[in-house]
Amino acid sequence: MKLSFIPEDMDWVCEPCGLALQPGMAELFYLGNVFRVELPMCPGCGAVLIGEELATGKMLQVEQLLEDK
Ligand SMILES: [Zn+2]
Repeated sequence: MKLSFIPEDMDWVCEPCGLALQPGMAELFYLGNVFRVELPMCPGCGAVLIGEELATGKMLQVEQLLEDK
C-alpha cells in the first residue's frame, strides 16, 4: 500500500536549512499496520513535514482502507 502525503502545491521550506522540501519515502506505523508513505522531506537534515489538516484527512483514508479489507 502506498500513500502520498505530498500536497499538489508543495512549496514548503525547512526553516533551519533554508532548503525546499522534496518528496521522500517514510514508514508510518498506525493502528498496528505499516504504511509506506510519501512525505515532504528536507534533503539537508531529513526532517519530515506533514500539515495537520493533510495528516488528519489522510489518516481517515487509511482507516477506510483498513475497514474495506
Ligand atoms: Zn532541514
